[in-house]
Amino acid sequence: MPELPEVEALAGYLRQRAVGRRVDRLEVAAISALKTYDPAPTEVTGRAVVDARRHGKFLDVVFEGDLHLVVHLARAGWLHYREAFPAGTPLRPGKGPIALRVRLDDGSGFDLTEAGTQKKLAAYLVSDVAAVPGVAKLGPDAFAADLPTFAERLRSRRGQVKGVLTDQSVLSGVGNAYSDEILHAAKLSPFAITDRLTDGQLAALHAATRQILGDAVERSVGQRAAELKGEKRSGLKVHARTGLPCPVCGDTVREVSFADSSLQYCPTCQTGGKPLADRRLSRIVR
Ligand SMILES: [Zn+2]
Repeated sequence: MPELPEVEALAGYLRQRAVGRRVDRLEVAAISALKTYDPAPTEVTGRAVVDARRHGKFLDVVFEGDLHLVVHLARAGWLHYREAFPAGTPLRPGKGPIALRVRLDDGSGFDLTEAGTQKKLAAYLVSDVAAVPGVAKLGPDAFAADLPTFAERLRSRRGQVKGVLTDQSVLSGVGNAYSDEILHAAKLSPFAITDRLTDGQLAALHAATRQILGDAVERSVGQRAAELKGEKRSGLKVHARTGLPCPVCGDTVREVSFADSSLQYCPTCQTGGKPLADRRLSRIVR
């Protein structure tokens, strides 16, 4: 799932490549992906792209006249910039991976795609970004938040730190992958309870958030957009590395599974060497 660093890189690429170009056509191939019907997709035709922004994990392509194409890429969505499109007929609604296509006046443009059968990518064409469900409720940006804001936000919600850190209304931008990395770097258990965190632990968590996201933004922005892939994620230490050695201490990275997700952590670095209870496994044992 694209998180803050990947969406930041996509926005940065669009600012370089698409700003100043006019829209030839916005084509909708997956009707269910476009969640708004007024203004109509044809309203974008002829307008210049004036900016590309990020709100949490949402990408916001801004057209002149204050029209926004706001996209949540969900788990398997991505943006592919094309220098050219195959000539011929417009996209046909169908079952392919392309949800939306934006053709620009220099022949280039971009496709919003979604792999797999679970179609969760959501696009909104709006004149007010706050009208997009989820955007108005976003908490402060996880990367931009200073320590007092960060600490106040985390303490405002009592719960397991993994869940609170990925709650977009507490702080925005961090998802499953980078929260695993941040908690590992901060040497905190994903199940630590937020309102029991010490000032020192919160400071370590804030520093780890800045470092992990900053490094990931740098890595992502350093790649050309054509090479940016949702699944690249080089440099991860624990996320999606179950069974492999922790690069910090050599212990084996472990996993806790949930109904439709999992988290990874290093017992030596994060939980005093003790494996966390895996609810799925303990249910089987019981
Ligand atoms: Zn370790």
